[in-house]
Amino acid sequence: MSSKTPPNLPSAMKAVVLMGPNRLEMQHIPIPIPGPTDVLIRVESCAICRSDLGMMEKPFPGQSPYGQTILGHEYAGTVVALGDTVDEFEIGDRVAVEAHLGCGRCRNCRLGDYTSCLNYGNRTKGHRCNGHVTPGAYAQYVVNHINTVYKIPDSVSFDEASLVTNVGCVLYGIENLGGYIVGERVLVVGAGPLGLAAASAANALGADKVYLSDVLADRLEVGKKIGVQRTINAVAEDPLKVILDDTQGLGVNYAIESSGTQAGLDLAVNATCRNGKILMLAIPHQPLKVDLENLSLNDKDIITNRGESRANVARAVSLLANGLVNLKPLATHRFPLDDYETALSVFRERKEGAIKVILHPQE
Ligand SMILES: [Zn+2]
Ligand SMILES: [Zn+2]
Repeated sequence: MSSKTPPNLPSAMKAVVLMGPNRLEMQHIPIPIPGPTDVLIRVESCAICRSDLGMMEKPFPGQSPYGQTILGHEYAGTVVALGDTVDEFEIGDRVAVEAHLGCGRCRNCRLGDYTSCLNYGNRTKGHRCNGHVTPGAYAQYVVNHINTVYKIPDSVSFDEASLVTNVGCVLYGIENLGGYIVGERVLVVGAGPLGLAAASAANALGADKVYLSDVLADRLEVGKKIGVQRTINAVAEDPLKVILDDTQGLGVNYAIESSGTQAGLDLAVNATCRNGKILMLAIPHQPLKVDLENLSLNDKDIITNRGESRANVARAVSLLANGLVNLKPLATHRFPLDDYETALSVFRERKEGAIKVILHPQE
């Protein structure tokens, strides 16, 4: 390791390795070595993400081979070693991260849209996505390029910091949508982790009023905790009627679709006012129909979103550090890394109102 590595690091670490479809194994493997522009991070908190379950079931394009895949792309920790050229960080810094490092040599990366890297999954060309293409944080240590690392103040917990890319994704979507939410009415459809992060971000950006619609009452309660003014239980009320009644029949300026369902997309389209905008934050796993006549006649725009490009994780960290978004109520469960099987089942089955389940690899 580099000369800037403290001598007290162990040589091996615990890591949960994906060995085959839905087959994970706890292993002891060497601690990774940071390259010249990397830092080594001791992982304190790693949140389980729905896409982790997807990658366990069937590899995503670009995913590293079985036996090498370590999942976990939402994490935070402490810098414990520096690459030879790194003077941007110091050992002991508390940091949040983002998973994606673009290749830096394709057109999209040069524009800053590195989550759409044209060399996605090509490690030899420099693309990384920790927890997918490159090793992630279902492990005690992980290497990150310095462009993907952000210092956090002591006031932000590691659990909360591990969730920051969710806000980064939302901000990237809002930036692509037009980026101006102050004074606007916003509907968020779906109160999963991304939907809740979207509602919190819309509040932070000065929305006039945020509506949050879901069918799960306990998730709507979390919405209230993070400052949503009007939650709508779609089992008990008609969300479209609630919004039209509340807006003199006009609808919201922005709808953020985070359910991935046909009903959610229809609601987003119908509840948006003329000249409004719809952000497709969810990634539906089957083709959905969209009423293009409604969009065209009313000059509404719909855009999709993947990831958290440009400076949006830095912006998300700023919101978090200044107390403008509140992710604490999303972190509902915590487990040591050794209990990863229990943690995954609590998350998968949404036991006890689970929203985000966090692994603690140092416990
Ligand atoms: Zn994720
Ligand atoms: Zn690229």
